[in-house]
Amino acid sequence: VKRLQDVGEFGLIERIARRVPAARDVVEGIGDDCAVLKLSDATLLVSTDLFVEDVHFRECDCKPHDIGWKAAASSLSDIAAMGGEPRFALVSLSCPPAADLTMMEEMYSGLVDAISQHGAAIVGGDTTRSKNGLVIDVAVIGEPVNGRYLLRRGAQPNDALAVTGALGLSAAGLHALTHGHKAPTLIKHHFHPVPRIPEGQWLASHKAVHAMLDVSDGLLQDAAHLARASDLGISIDSTALPENPDLTAYASAHGLGVNDIILGSGEDYELAFAVDGERISGLVEEFANEFRTPLTVIGTFTDQWTGVRVDGHATPTQGHDHFSEADLF
Ligand SMILES: [Mg+2]
Repeated sequence: VKRLQDVGEFGLIERIARRVPAARDVVEGIGDDCAVLKLSDATLLVSTDLFVEDVHFRECDCKPHDIGWKAAASSLSDIAAMGGEPRFALVSLSCPPAADLTMMEEMYSGLVDAISQHGAAIVGGDTTRSKNGLVIDVAVIGEPVNGRYLLRRGAQPNDALAVTGALGLSAAGLHALTHGHKAPTLIKHHFHPVPRIPEGQWLASHKAVHAMLDVSDGLLQDAAHLARASDLGISIDSTALPENPDLTAYASAHGLGVNDIILGSGEDYELAFAVDGERISGLVEEFANEFRTPLTVIGTFTDQWTGVRVDGHATPTQGHDHFSEADLF
């Protein structure tokens, strides 16, 4: 018997995608951060994300509000990855009958806060009984701004690879949480990711930006998605990775490799994108005038080979795969 864990999450998605017939008005189907759909004159960006107790969160670790916030933030981040504007959300819950009602209400207010703070409205969903823990599904519908959106494909040779914000903080926060270490800033990042909606829209409005995704599975894995979508290679310079003092201090205090965490861990929900190599410095400057979010150039795209190399070395793809789990720590 061939099992799911043998092919992994992406093997499963590939197999599913092959069974899905083509349909009209589907501009982009399975495989990007959002589906892109045409409805009369409108273009819709649609994405859905599952958040499962004891897989994505443990109730004992976190405040109920954080659970709701994070479930919504990860869905909203897929709209950010296209440079879109979130508009509507459908929230479906599967809950054990014995669930604490106050906890459920606090969790739901986390969902409401994340969704409404990013300009979208909850318009419905579904609720059902669960035998094992809480399951939250957030489907988000958004739209492109001025008709522009970015896909994972479209990068050109000699484009620069850049990322917003800091990476690895969420995983370090989870490490701190599970090991009982004090690291409030990192733990906050783990529970309270902020989807890069305005940054994504700004990037999508610039023609020098060619392709984009959100870093949800880990930089190496998501860079591999970008490289594969454009049929190019990505060369990452490990000395250029974004530095964060909290992460550096935490890693050295606990004997962890900072670069391993940055390259291999997910759930930071930052944006990674391809920019015209000749226009990157101007873009970094303009971005800095607009946002406080850091922007770091970490690599280049090449047509000489495919895959992702760090400092010239091919890397085994590590990062988050829901069905073939290799733990980072
Ligand atoms: Mg995504």
